[in-house]
Amino acid sequence: MSNAVKQPCPCGTGKHYEQCCGRWHQGSEYLQAPDAEHLMRSRYSAFVLQLPDYLLATWHPSTRPSELDLDDKFTKWIALSIHHALQHDDTHAEVSFTARYKQNGKAVRLQEVSQFLKEQERWFYVDGQFPD
Ligand SMILES: [Zn+2]
Repeated sequence: MSNAVKQPCPCGTGKHYEQCCGRWHQGSEYLQAPDAEHLMRSRYSAFVLQLPDYLLATWHPSTRPSELDLDDKFTKWIALSIHHALQHDDTHAEVSFTARYKQNGKAVRLQEVSQFLKEQERWFYVDGQFPD
């Protein structure tokens, strides 16, 4: 195990990574995030930790890109804020969040309302809209 496991989780819960998003990134609970908010958090952490395989595995096949290049030295993720997580029904949910990052030293706020879908006991990210 790397040193990352004892670090605070990048998603901002204050828990250790291994007790937070790390549970879904690897090991016996791989891909088992129990709801859309946990999946959203784990995907943010996967961006921070550069885990493209996890991002692709949790992306719904209907909208998933064929590949993902996270090797971007100019983006530094800073923080995630979840505004709300709404469960529409057993298999549909949305999560509203703001992610902050720096790109080429410039602070950026990404606001998104993401849609999630549950299929065969697993949650997937489908797509997102950007409110004004
Ligand atoms: Zn986390």
